[in-house]
Amino acid sequence: MSSYGGIDLGGTKIQTVIVDDEHNVLGSARRPTPTTGGPADVACEMAAALCEAAKAAELAVTALAGIGVGSPGTIEAGNVSSARNLPGWEGTFPLAAALETALGVGGMPILVGNDVQVATDAEFKLGSGRPYGTLLGVFWGTGVGAGLILDGKPWTGRGGAGEVGHMVIEIDGARCTCGRRGCVEAYAGRAAMETHARELHEQKGHKTDLFKLMKDHDRTRLTSGIWARALRDEDKLATHIIDRAVGALGAGIASAVNLLDVESVIVGGGLGIRLGDPYAKRISEAMRPHLFADNRPPDVQVAALGDLGGAIGASLLVETGVARTAAAS
Ligand SMILES: [Zn+2]
Repeated sequence: MSSYGGIDLGGTKIQTVIVDDEHNVLGSARRPTPTTGGPADVACEMAAALCEAAKAAELAVTALAGIGVGSPGTIEAGNVSSARNLPGWEGTFPLAAALETALGVGGMPILVGNDVQVATDAEFKLGSGRPYGTLLGVFWGTGVGAGLILDGKPWTGRGGAGEVGHMVIEIDGARCTCGRRGCVEAYAGRAAMETHARELHEQKGHKTDLFKLMKDHDRTRLTSGIWARALRDEDKLATHIIDRAVGALGAGIASAVNLLDVESVIVGGGLGIRLGDPYAKRISEAMRPHLFADNRPPDVQVAALGDLGGAIGASLLVETGVARTAAAS
């Protein structure tokens, strides 16, 4: 029986898992992503988090059959370029090679893929996407990312497909984190939502407990948990901003469905997972008025693998990579 390592590198946290041949999670660990330093510091934390997961699984990292990594940014042969939201990562960094050195696993297959696409693949193979041949995975968190499966295969275009977060839903609309205007992410990304909440609270005097909750829970950002808590308390400003986000997601996802006619939409990401089924239902309802073929809307469901989906998906990358190497030799 072989075991594989999976690492999900996010802007907020590094999630690692050790899985067996049948995708059972044998151990997992989570560490905050460094907010200072550079790619080498991030790679060190990733290695430490994988060691922790291996320890929890009572395995040595050197005993793994391979390691997969899901990373933001542009990925080519284990190198990662311009990874947004990560400290000092404007240039190109040889992530696979750095992990190989840090873990002392020379020669072990280490494969790096796009974070959102590996999470979509995991839902397709093991999670909510299993019954479908075509699906759109939407990851609602700090930003809004998406991955596509068309005819049973991942579709990445020329490397830039699936940017549902940057579909324009309002010409000359709100400023997006990407620098453009009117994108879905400008209304629904957690980073943009926090900026908007701060403006309305500090400059326009709207009342909210969001920032008090943030301090009370010792957070430096409005996390998904803080948003969920404020919604539960019926905080007016939080409710208004989340409603606006749901409307933006509905319009953006419906537009993607009008183009691709996928059977299913899987909603994941920090906010998607935390807010769960009631919000998947609300997003589905917000899509309705924008769907052209409105007699058969796609199923909208929450990602079944939850917070571990990205790391499990990364481990799948190794499995298929290993299989490919074996077939070629
Ligand atoms: Zn944008």
